[in-house]
Amino acid sequence: MSKGLLIVISGPSGAGKGTICKELLNELDLNLSISATTRDARVGEVEGENYFFITEDKFKDMLLDNQFLEHAEVYNNYYGTPKEYVFDMLEEGKDVLLEIDIQGALSIKEIYPDGVFIFILPPSMQELRNRIEKRATETKEAMVKRLDSAYKELKYVFKYDYGVLNDTVDSAVDNINAIIKAEKCKVNRQINLIKNIKEV
Ligand code: 5GP
Repeated sequence: MSKGLLIVISGPSGAGKGTICKELLNELDLNLSISATTRDARVGEVEGENYFFITEDKFKDMLLDNQFLEHAEVYNNYYGTPKEYVFDMLEEGKDVLLEIDIQGALSIKEIYPDGVFIFILPPSMQELRNRIEKRATETKEAMVKRLDSAYKELKYVFKYDYGVLNDTVDSAVDNINAIIKAEKCKVNRQINLIKNIKEV
């Protein structure tokens, strides 16, 4: 059986990756990796669905116990990707979707270069600003910080395999779907094909 595909989606805050990932999960047979975080839940967020909301002490324990595939500090909170879930799914041939920040994506690329690394680009700088301001679930200071780092983060697109413009959610989802299909057709991902041909 071929391994599942690890699809890593990231991009600057406000690029719209959350909405795109939600739609991808509706349309495709993907398994979302739920991260652990030390930040407080926002209104409407559900434990175990959006995140596992944990204390800083618990986060540190999990870190010492080597339970994270990667972890990062983002806007003064800690986030980590649970290792066991991701690797178990991939071994079972199931595709896993990760929606994480850029530092996390790049550290996963180092240890698991077989993943598919997709950077979501906002349609324009003005639109990026509008989205971050509209979100405004935090203090003005936190928002300015997000805007500043979003501008700086854009240049990291060059470290990714694919850049997908979030012009409309539908077109971004279509493009990601096409990327996944193409990745699955790569010869080196098709163990059965390789085996059959070797046996001829
Ligand atoms: P938010 O607090 O808005 O949900 O997420 C803030 C940032 O943290 C987003 O860019 C999100 O993609 C990222 N993030 C969420 N989970 C993880 C994770 O497990 N690891 C890393 N490195 N970043 C994460």
